[in-house]
Amino acid sequence: MHSNGTVHTRNGAHDMRQMEVPFVDLGAQYASIEAEVNQAIARVLRRNDFVLGQDVEAFEAEFAAYCDTDYAIGMDSGLSALELLLRAYGVGPGDEVITQANTFIATALAVSGVGATPVLVDMDPHTYMIDVAQIEAAITPRTKAIMPVHLYGQLADMDAIMAIAERHHLVVIEDACQAHGARYKGRRAGSLGHAAAFSFYPAKNLGAYGDGGAAVTSDEQVARKLRLLRNYGSVQKYHHEVCGYNRRLDTLHAAVLRVKLRRLDEWNAARRRAAAQYTALLGDATVVCPPELSHTEPVYHLYVIRAPERDALQAHLRSQGIATVIHYPIPIHLQPAYKQLGLPAGSFPVAEQAAQEILSLPMYAELESQAIAYVAEAICTFTQPSLEIAPVI
Ligand SMILES: *Cc1c(COP(=O)(O)O)cnc(C)c1O
Repeated sequence: MHSNGTVHTRNGAHDMRQMEVPFVDLGAQYASIEAEVNQAIARVLRRNDFVLGQDVEAFEAEFAAYCDTDYAIGMDSGLSALELLLRAYGVGPGDEVITQANTFIATALAVSGVGATPVLVDMDPHTYMIDVAQIEAAITPRTKAIMPVHLYGQLADMDAIMAIAERHHLVVIEDACQAHGARYKGRRAGSLGHAAAFSFYPAKNLGAYGDGGAAVTSDEQVARKLRLLRNYGSVQKYHHEVCGYNRRLDTLHAAVLRVKLRRLDEWNAARRRAAAQYTALLGDATVVCPPELSHTEPVYHLYVIRAPERDALQAHLRSQGIATVIHYPIPIHLQPAYKQLGLPAGSFPVAEQAAQEILSLPMYAELESQAIAYVAEAICTFTQPSLEIAPVI
């Protein structure tokens, strides 16, 4: 279904009417906020405060409040937010940071980026989050931090993780890059650990029109360090306290993010409705739908199913005009970039098996229920071919 609502019919005398269902549709989102976004951008262009301007400060205050934290520090990407958080906590060469094998590469790259070693743990087979039962075995005298990922907009088991961290005096940095607005026991993602990183990559639940990110925390010292690190080690122009970086969130992006932040809860609610519809309609299909634990309120950055015949199902859906993606096809330890970890296939059997079976279905706030029904039907007819034979009336 295109943003203009047209159903594209393919040629063929007895073909079913066929839709095109994109994986995400940022054009549909822009259409719903176009005037506001254009005005926000024009205001920045007239003010000319392109770097660390008014909208950055305003967005930081609004985003911190949204996340139930005291501080938010705008960055140029989620990876920068993760990496500068590790630096702010003093993590560096010789240190180890525990995270999960099934995540986007950036989680691990942040650890390598500060010269530390990512220590991987397998995923929980039902939730896809880090398997908390395996964390303690991965802790060594070099461990400095745990970086759980709220993958797909679901929630890591933060109470268990914080209890482990407290026992071993570790810092917990949430990778909340897919979980803007998600809740765990009523509390927002980003406020559950000591600090958290968010990405505003365009397709994230809260996305800029280019790269962007933020770190959030309620630790004043860490917030101050982050502000130094992202801006050449300086808070006062041409006075440099530490050797920093240039990792700032652009004012133009902040202006757009302020417009979008006002809609985020509404958009997340729409994603949750879409997810509920998928789960209801896929009840008869031989696929595994994402779990929704009663103490969590996931925000479905991705709606990820598991299917034993995943590649064939993906090809079938493609033939029906439905775009899907695999998040992620190769776990961290099997990426060439991480061959130095020396972890062969078989090291994390749960994550490796999942990588063969997971499939992300189209998911965005504007996704229409007709399109969801069409996708679900295509999956049901593939997994239960007998349903395909329509009764002759
Ligand atoms: C998107 C993402 C990142 C990195 O964010 P960028 O803004 O692309 O640098 C990190 N971790 C996870 C889980 C992500 O999904």
